[in-house]
Amino acid sequence: MASRRRYRQLAGWDRKFLWHPFTQMREWEEEDPLIITRARGSYLYDTNGRKYLDGVSSIWLTVHGHRHPVLDRALREQSAKMAHSTLLGLSHPPAIELARELIRIAPRGLTRVFYSDDGSTAMEVALKMAVQYWRQRVPDAGPKRTFLHLQRGYHGDTAGAMSVGGIDLFHRRFRPLLFPTITAEPPYCYRCPFKLTFPSCRMACLDPIQQILKRRHRDIAGLVIEPLVQAAAGMITAPPGYLARLRRLCTKYKVLLIADEVATGFGRTGRMFACEHEGVTPDLMAVSKGLTGGYLPLAATLTTEKIYRAFLGRYDEWKTFFHGHSYTGNPLGCAVALANLDVFRRERTLAQLQPKVKALSRLLRPLDDLAHVGDVRQRGFMVGIELVRDRHAKFSYPLKQRIGHRVVMEARRRGLFLRPLGNVIVLMPPLTVTLRELSRMVRIVRESIRAVTDGSKKLKVKSKK
Ligand SMILES: *Cc1c(COP(=O)(O)O)cnc(C)c1O
Repeated sequence: MASRRRYRQLAGWDRKFLWHPFTQMREWEEEDPLIITRARGSYLYDTNGRKYLDGVSSIWLTVHGHRHPVLDRALREQSAKMAHSTLLGLSHPPAIELARELIRIAPRGLTRVFYSDDGSTAMEVALKMAVQYWRQRVPDAGPKRTFLHLQRGYHGDTAGAMSVGGIDLFHRRFRPLLFPTITAEPPYCYRCPFKLTFPSCRMACLDPIQQILKRRHRDIAGLVIEPLVQAAAGMITAPPGYLARLRRLCTKYKVLLIADEVATGFGRTGRMFACEHEGVTPDLMAVSKGLTGGYLPLAATLTTEKIYRAFLGRYDEWKTFFHGHSYTGNPLGCAVALANLDVFRRERTLAQLQPKVKALSRLLRPLDDLAHVGDVRQRGFMVGIELVRDRHAKFSYPLKQRIGHRVVMEARRRGLFLRPLGNVIVLMPPLTVTLRELSRMVRIVRESIRAVTDGSKKLKVKSKK
């Protein structure tokens, strides 16, 4: 009873004082917010003690489940020593040890770690490093101060990260703030911009990119990419070999490859980093979300010795990288990140994950029978289910119908927390999810899609033959 009163009080204060991210607050103010008070493993618990499967790893963060004892302990032990001390002019053990560990597991050739606080800042750092690198290393290589990136890409919400982003709904109105860039079509095979089919297309979408690089490499500092999966775009998966070919093009035209592994890093695609699937070493790599296992905000930009060395010089050559944030390399975050990586080893997380990735593919297969499921995309534990009004014509639902939102509200009633991307239902379970939990998640997703889109009639017809 006391908890009911407590809930009403909290909900009132939430509506009165809080402004939630990516949220239409008028709508929010009319609803009863779900307030989460604790979490464990794959579950979130609300103020009434009701539990929900965390189907999106708390928006793509949680790795080894909530409240993992090893991560919990690392946080407690570090906080007993010190919560923060700066990396400006000082150093500390967790930052040093984590840098070493990151380099150990990163694609070969990445040798330096620059910390920041979140995915957006890790990308800002990468962009600024790229521009300054070209200035200092090869002054006559060309102006090299713009970037080539893909439409529908997402790299964060700060101005630089938005400049290399391509999600119209988020970025359009800020265009006056953004610097000019060059964009190309992404490999969105379900809706191929060139109306071709993989593999017979032979990745024709790379031709315009090659043309741009050929013509404009003197202007281009770097090519920015979400390797393998354009996550925020709706889990758009690139065909195999696409990334490796981009790597070769970048090398050929002397353009830095900037891999944004913020969503894909730390096991999410089935390997530690997405770049590994194609044996690619980027010149700059941003990581954040899974870095601390979903515990604390921390990010890093990794780069090569070649880029690092271009910043060395006498003080008054002004080659210093003048960039840093107050909490850069926070010891609590670094200590938990170290524990996070330790658990990957101890529990053989990536080996344990492989059968679950296969099971997930199997579980997802029947979704194809639903009348309004247009495309089911999976890469490891990253899944996007694109809902369409008309499956044959691939007509989208108008965004204002909020079809994705309605599906996730159905899922919530059934005990699964999800967050859609427009008409795409996203599933991104913690890597430690059990097979039972996984199968329950997919069952709820299926029921929820049917409840909203009423694909049942079509289903019956199909299953008869
Ligand atoms: C989430 C995300 C970011 C932004 O990270 P924040 O921590 O939210 O700033 C950048 N790139 C990708 C690919 C992401 O998914």
